[in-house]
Amino acid sequence: MALARYACDPAGSRGRRHAEAPAPTRTEYQRDRDRIVHSTAFRRLVYKTQVFLNHEGDLFRTRLTHSLEVAQLGRSVARSLQLNEDLVEAIALAHDLGHTPFGHAGQDALNECMAAHGGFEHNLQSLRVVDELEERYPSFNGLNLTFETREGILKHCSQANAKRLDAAEPNGVARRFLDHSQPSLEAQLCNLADEIAYNAHDVDDGVRSGLITTDQLGEVELFQSFHAETLEEFPDLQGRRLLYEIIRRMLSTQVYDVIEATRAALQAANPASAGRAREAGPLVTFSESMRDRSAVLKQFLLRNLYRHPQVVAKTGQAQQVVRELFALYVRDPAQMPADFAARSNTARAVADYIAGMTDRFAAREHERLTGRNLLA
Ligand code: MG
Repeated sequence: MALARYACDPAGSRGRRHAEAPAPTRTEYQRDRDRIVHSTAFRRLVYKTQVFLNHEGDLFRTRLTHSLEVAQLGRSVARSLQLNEDLVEAIALAHDLGHTPFGHAGQDALNECMAAHGGFEHNLQSLRVVDELEERYPSFNGLNLTFETREGILKHCSQANAKRLDAAEPNGVARRFLDHSQPSLEAQLCNLADEIAYNAHDVDDGVRSGLITTDQLGEVELFQSFHAETLEEFPDLQGRRLLYEIIRRMLSTQVYDVIEATRAALQAANPASAGRAREAGPLVTFSESMRDRSAVLKQFLLRNLYRHPQVVAKTGQAQQVVRELFALYVRDPAQMPADFAARSNTARAVADYIAGMTDRFAAREHERLTGRNLLA
């Protein structure tokens, strides 16, 4: 399908950090996507927590299924808007590669441990994974992805980190945080698809886990309106099928809303190229009313699910696992694999090692080193 003039065209890519000959049958973004799918960090996503700790149930989302849902939503919007589907897919599949075990609890604990050593931030870590930590090629570290995929992976960045990254890679992927421009439309789309995906699947997982109820969700207009609409059409529908139908309608409506609102924003800004689109302010967007409705749902999930006492209790234990592992490895780096132990910056080596762990590996390592099983 023809790309819009403001879509990222692989022929106009700013390229890779290490020059490589083009692939005979694939575009550069398809190649990025393939490298991500074959990476070690990608395979580990299946055993990493999204909200529910990985071992709590087989039916809940993991980082892997979350990433696949983001890619699916993102691609379907990209197709409608004639944006680059391959680039959207590559960014979506890579966007969570830097997540620690145990979800945000793990990241917060690791960030605390690293406070005196430059901190830990999962977006930055996702970039580190694809730039440095993957070991798959004979002549360079990382996956050597294109600028546009790397730009999309670095979704947030503090000013301090942006300055540091921009010094190491002048005018590179961190530049936009310093001159406050936007990433590609494809990257903007991935951010929104991420939000749409987790709002919907966390409602699903939250209700099925029993931690939140459809009654409670009555206070969320976005949910309530589709609940009422579905029951009007199918008065006898209940349980899982009712829940899925509500979520399905909620997802479709948000996707159509993004397509429509973005189309209007693109028409108004009329960017002549992908580069111009970056200067035009955020263009991939919800309508104003959908932004508000979605924010209410997000707030509801924060209050009732992410801060649910049962979730908080588990995350407290998970944080203890991360903190104790960090202290143990810093004291005795030889407990890590030789290549991590040999690195001169011990704290960063420990952070990289822990961040790469799956939930269950971290729990097992903790038990091996302490004799205690906190997460049983
Ligand atoms: Mg995500």
